[in-house]
Amino acid sequence: MKEYALPKLPYGYEALEPVIDKDTVTLHHDKHHAAYVTGFNTTLKKIVEAREKSDYSAIKALAKDLSFHGSGVVLHNLYWENLCPKSESKEPVSGNLLEQIKTGFGGLDKLKAEMGAAAKAVEGSGWAVLVWDKYADQLLVLQAENHQKLAIWGVAPLLVIDVWEHAYYLKYQNNRAVYVDALWGIINWKIVEERFSKAK
Ligand code: MN
Repeated sequence: MKEYALPKLPYGYEALEPVIDKDTVTLHHDKHHAAYVTGFNTTLKKIVEAREKSDYSAIKALAKDLSFHGSGVVLHNLYWENLCPKSESKEPVSGNLLEQIKTGFGGLDKLKAEMGAAAKAVEGSGWAVLVWDKYADQLLVLQAENHQKLAIWGVAPLLVIDVWEHAYYLKYQNNRAVYVDALWGIINWKIVEERFSKAK
């Protein structure tokens, strides 16, 4: 059985201020993200036990938990990585990613408008996800409900925005839209470009 581990943040807990406050980052990473890692590993352990006993009576719930926690871990890993301190966030002015964004959306502002709207409109807890769709060679904006619902299988996530309340409520309360708009100031576009290059 291979366990998931909680990656360390690629920057300090206060590095995303003032867009995301230190307390939110601390709780979000050390408690919420960590809980998905624990949840995944616990579920996997139960599945291994079921396998050893050949007792699959609980497999429906276990498979659901595996998808929920596993997707939670993966998306949080991507999220922390695709954010950075405001001073280091540089929007692309050239390159393959920007060209594809122009082809797909008509420009970076149009992508931000579509992805921002998708993030603000997620029903309940979830994510907005920019993906590379290898089947048709195109960029798409998806929503994810919870962590695992509404995906397209096999697409590569390039940029994710967490809109669970734990991602913004301490500072923004119910004003999810203000959080989403502010988040554009701390996107690590270098990482997004790297993910795009790998996906292509
Ligand atoms: Mn989260």
